[in-house]
Amino acid sequence: MIDLEGLNAEQRTAVEKIDGPLLVLAGAGSGKTRTLTHRIANILDQGRVSPHGILAITFTRKAASEMRRRLEELVGKEASDITAVTFHSLGFKLLSAEAGTLGYKPEKLSVYDAVEAQRLLHRAMQEMNVNGTRWTLETVAPIIERAKDNLYGPDDFVRVKGDFFEESIAKVYRRYQELLMENNAVDYGDLIRLSVQLLRQHPGTLEFYQNLFRYVSVDEFQDTSFAQYQLVRHLVWRNRNLCCVGSPVQAIYSWRGADIHNILDRYREDFRDAPVVILSQNYRSTSTILNSAQAVVQDLSYREDLRTDNDQGASLIVVPLNTDWDEANFIANEIKRLDEERYCGIEDCAVLFRTRAQGRLLEQVFMHQGLPYILIGDFKFFERREVKDILAYLRVVHDMFDASALQRIINRPPRGLGTAALQKLQGGEPELNFAAITGLHQRADLPPKVLSAATEFADLIFDDLPNAMKEKTLTEFFDEVLNRTGYLAWIEKDPDAKRRMANLRLLRAMTTRYDHAEEALGNFLADIATLSVVEGGDTSLDVPSEGRGVTMATIHAVKGLEFPVVFIAGLEEGIFPHARAMKTPDGMEEETRLAYVAITRAMSLLYFTYARSRMVGDEMKEHSPSRFLAAIPKHLLERRSATQTVSSPIPNLPSMETELTALAIPALEPSP
Ligand code: ATP
Ligand code: MG
Repeated sequence: MIDLEGLNAEQRTAVEKIDGPLLVLAGAGSGKTRTLTHRIANILDQGRVSPHGILAITFTRKAASEMRRRLEELVGKEASDITAVTFHSLGFKLLSAEAGTLGYKPEKLSVYDAVEAQRLLHRAMQEMNVNGTRWTLETVAPIIERAKDNLYGPDDFVRVKGDFFEESIAKVYRRYQELLMENNAVDYGDLIRLSVQLLRQHPGTLEFYQNLFRYVSVDEFQDTSFAQYQLVRHLVWRNRNLCCVGSPVQAIYSWRGADIHNILDRYREDFRDAPVVILSQNYRSTSTILNSAQAVVQDLSYREDLRTDNDQGASLIVVPLNTDWDEANFIANEIKRLDEERYCGIEDCAVLFRTRAQGRLLEQVFMHQGLPYILIGDFKFFERREVKDILAYLRVVHDMFDASALQRIINRPPRGLGTAALQKLQGGEPELNFAAITGLHQRADLPPKVLSAATEFADLIFDDLPNAMKEKTLTEFFDEVLNRTGYLAWIEKDPDAKRRMANLRLLRAMTTRYDHAEEALGNFLADIATLSVVEGGDTSLDVPSEGRGVTMATIHAVKGLEFPVVFIAGLEEGIFPHARAMKTPDGMEEETRLAYVAITRAMSLLYFTYARSRMVGDEMKEHSPSRFLAAIPKHLLERRSATQTVSSPIPNLPSMETELTALAIPALEPSP
């Protein structure tokens, strides 16, 4: 029997309502995720279905592995048979298994990240002669992404026939899809859109998955896109066992295609009989923290008011600083002090910021001060040169037809196959491909130097490396790749060698959970592909812990998580709220929700910092303090100067047994 003791009456109602649709709405820290996991445990407990029949979807990969961890605590080993994934991994699972039905080659579906996708899009734009100032990648890419979020394919893209703009985009979109198909690749948007298409067009497949996933739950429902909602809606349409959990006041991803109407009205129209359970007690934060968060969103009609029995706790500490540099130093010093005075450990602290650019300075200062940190939501990791290079080597070994990977590594490290040589090798083709590299012996047109360099390269990737894979673990093979390609020696001479090596070590650490290279390589690459999904979202690194560290993240990346001590940096007009968002009422409203999310991550102690001047791009800019500070009642705040040491007693932290979700290092998702 699962223990329902640790649940309040409202939570218990939701946990015990097993069959049929159910909507749980509540503000931050009210136990939504906890309710959802207990409910799944209860479904298993009642013997309704085996763990294979349970599908639980969450927003980030970190949240998904956290959910698996919580489930394992509740139901034990069985938890590993539950499908607890992100939408993108679910899409990947469906498409990998069924891609053949959609005209893809089933066995080697690649998922293109933003950079690779844009490369193809660029080509499509060129081929379709769509260019000029109005047609940049920056304008066209989001249009196609949003189309996919709303399930518009190239053929249903044009709303107004004859509209030049729409017709042009549709042409590019169509060509872009053809190019993806040629590469046997999908982009992130396709993971969802094509999955829906698959279920819509193939009743047999739909029925199979409807029978497989008997109970479906979705956490963070407020941030699902139209396409994502349609995906679950199809899956549950027959048995209707769909539980959605969310918080409209925490909707923060509309800029990336999330549609708040799913939670506000669409679900209720589709499932008219769904009971709505409202949770009303916050367990996470001191009443001071909770009240300040609620003050910030008091004008939003759909806010969810919460009460708490928790102590009042300390005042929120506001620290003005002169520059962003001072700010970063203050935060680092303060965390060290909290640690030295044993108020908390550094791993209990999180530093949150609005823009990724702020993270770079913080990283620099933390590194300089020798204060360990873990950067989460660092999707840039997979865009770093050395990481992409080594992954490209692995991809070529896995799939020698992978033209984009081949192109990337042919002269990295430099082996005399620079641009001019490459053009000769390509012999008029738009891209270097497998044929160009394998047909070398027939190429009388190539200069001897190019020929010998290319032959050596072909031997390396088609013979040496595949042979080196035999009988090795993936990690051993990873090391072989670094050595045999000469990449390691090359990178060691790089001016930025230290950082690049650190990134490669991180990538290497990700290989350690896999076994035999030959069997595991494909799974590893597939995991990485779904891991590096879209900006700010599903991006937590699955890295075995390298010790403790401060969590550093954008606010978007920490939704659902909690930390005893939180610093929110850069509370300045133009930074947070962000200048771009301030231009529209909708943008401003989303910033307000983001402020609510930021504040409610904190359990005990919360700092707000702002700098009078800050580097933005390459300009020093003056900012005034954020309006969010003004929205918080004065009596909840305490102003301090950076040099002032804490004189007021700090309250004790809550018992460290509480679920410090942020600290758990997620386990690798079973390979799709
Ligand atoms: P968010 O909106 O940020 O995702 P949430 O509503 O999902 O928050 P949880 O993360 O599930 O909230 O819970 C917040 C904290 O409160 C957790 O530490 C959880 O263990 C604790 N908690 C939730 N319900 C209870 C309860 N009934 N008794 C004690 N602690 C609880
Ligand atoms: Mg939650």
